[in-house]
Amino acid sequence: MNVLAIAAHPDDIDFTCGATVARLCEAGHHVTYCCVTNGQAGGRDSSQSRLEAAKTRRGEQNLAAATLGVKDAVYLDKPDGQVEANLELRRDLTRVIRQTKPCLVIAPSPRINFNNMPFLHPDHLAVGQATLAAIYPDARNPFAFPELGIDPHTVSQLWLLEDPEPDYFVDISGYLETKLAALNEHSSQFAVDVNLEEAVYSEAGRHSELGGSVFLAAEAFKKITYSDVEEISF
Ligand SMILES: [Zn+2]
Repeated sequence: MNVLAIAAHPDDIDFTCGATVARLCEAGHHVTYCCVTNGQAGGRDSSQSRLEAAKTRRGEQNLAAATLGVKDAVYLDKPDGQVEANLELRRDLTRVIRQTKPCLVIAPSPRINFNNMPFLHPDHLAVGQATLAAIYPDARNPFAFPELGIDPHTVSQLWLLEDPEPDYFVDISGYLETKLAALNEHSSQFAVDVNLEEAVYSEAGRHSELGGSVFLAAEAFKKITYSDVEEISF
């Protein structure tokens, strides 16, 4: 099965669902990352040009993705911090969906989750909104963006990240160390004294509780089904 994980910035997917990605890859699914920006507005090094920062972050994302077993990463090169859910982004995402033909798309929720405040990024909301439109109706509609010259594609499921009402929980108990290893590749983004391990474990515990503590550690999603499909196994 093909999986497309869409994010606003390098490191978003690894933070929010890196362990789920590792599980999907281990189960033999082909996961592609799509980063809408290069994350050039992130980090702490003001001596670095923003072009250099973009290069650094792409490199970090490629290494982190490879750590989880991801084979491909594409970058749409939109300006970090200024992402808009406009027709141009919908067309770009439609192109990637039609090219990669995912059964499952993973993307940020377009809904404000006040539990994530004050660090909820507007780029995430814009990417979520554009992704919804790109899945339905754009990618499946032969009359939407015909200039792309690629056959329409219907996505079966969408798992939204950071949604205020998650209803699908993935057991990540055996994958926390792999997630941590991926996050450690994003070294330009963390102060040296940050305790990543504690952050990863406490977030996994929080999501587990949201899911009724069925699993010891979990990542949380809001699941949307577009077409009948066998349950995704992994
Ligand atoms: Zn982000």
